[in-house]
Amino acid sequence: MDRLSVPSEAAAWSAAQRRQGGRVGFVPTMGALHAGHLALVAEARRQCDRVAASIFVNPLQFNNPEDLARYPRQPEADARLLEEAGCDMLFQPDAEGLYHGTSPLRYELHGLDLHWEGPSRPGHFQGVVNVVERLFHYVRPDRAFFGEKDRQQLTIIRHVANTLHWPTVIVPCPTLRETDGLAMSSRNQRLGPADRARAPLLYRALQAVADLAFHHSVEEARQAGLDVLAGDPEIQLDHLGIAHPDTLVPLTHWDGLDRAVALIAAQVGPVRLIDNLDLRRG
Ligand code: AMP
Repeated sequence: MDRLSVPSEAAAWSAAQRRQGGRVGFVPTMGALHAGHLALVAEARRQCDRVAASIFVNPLQFNNPEDLARYPRQPEADARLLEEAGCDMLFQPDAEGLYHGTSPLRYELHGLDLHWEGPSRPGHFQGVVNVVERLFHYVRPDRAFFGEKDRQQLTIIRHVANTLHWPTVIVPCPTLRETDGLAMSSRNQRLGPADRARAPLLYRALQAVADLAFHHSVEEARQAGLDVLAGDPEIQLDHLGIAHPDTLVPLTHWDGLDRAVALIAAQVGPVRLIDNLDLRRG
C-alpha cells in the first residue's frame, strides 16, 4: 500500500491508475478505524480496480474544539488495517497541504442542514462538503463510499454531487453494528463501561419506532422511542424524529410513503452519539 501525504502525489497516483484503465474507489475517513470503515473498503474493492482511503481529522467540521482535540488518533494501527483490507493507497494530508491557504467555500445545501445535526453543529456540514471536495479534487475517484451511519452527511454529499455535477458516483453503504446493536463509531472508544452499557439504548429506541412505523401515527411511533430512552435518565437526548428518506425533512404524517427514516442523537457520558434506521411499510 502506498502512503502519501502530499496532495499532488495523491493526484499523480490516481492519474496513473486511470491511465492503466483502473477504476478508482475512494473511502474518506477520519481514522480510528473499525469494522464499519473496513466494510466500506471491502465494498470499494468489489466495485473498483484500485482502492484509495484517506485519514484526515478535518478541523473545519468540528464546531467543538474539545471534540477535535480528543478525537482518537491511531495512524499506524489504521495503516495496518487498511493494508490488510486490500487498500492500495492511503492519503494522509495535513490541513495546510490540503487547504493550501484557501478559504472555505460556502455551498448551497438547499435547507438540508436545517434539521437534525444541523442546528446542534453549526457549520459542520459546510466543513464536511469542503473537505470532501478538496479530497475529491486530488484523488479524483470514480466512486466514493460513504456510510449510512452518517445519514444526513450522505444525503448532503449526494445532493451537492448531483447539483454541481461532480463526476464521482456516491455509493451508500449500510451501518455496521456491534452485537448489541450499537452502531460502530470511532467515538465509542471514549465511552466508559457504564456509558458503553447504556449506549445500545439508542438503537433500541430506533427499533421501537420501527415497530410502530406506518401502523400508528408518526407521533405515536416517535413516542415509543422516547419511552425506551426514558428508562435511562443519564442519556441526554438531542433529537429523535422521523424524516423523509430522501430529503430528511421531518415528517408529521406518513404522507402515503412506503419508506422513512428514524434519526437519533444523544449525549452519552462524554460522547455525542448518532444513529438512524430505515423504516419500511409492511
Ligand atoms: P468517519 O471516520 O467517522 O468520518 O467515517 C468515515 C466513513 O465511514 C463515513 O462515510 C461514515 O459514514 C462511515 N462509517 C462510520 N461508521 C460506520 C458504521 N458503523 N458502518 C458503516 N459505515 C460507517
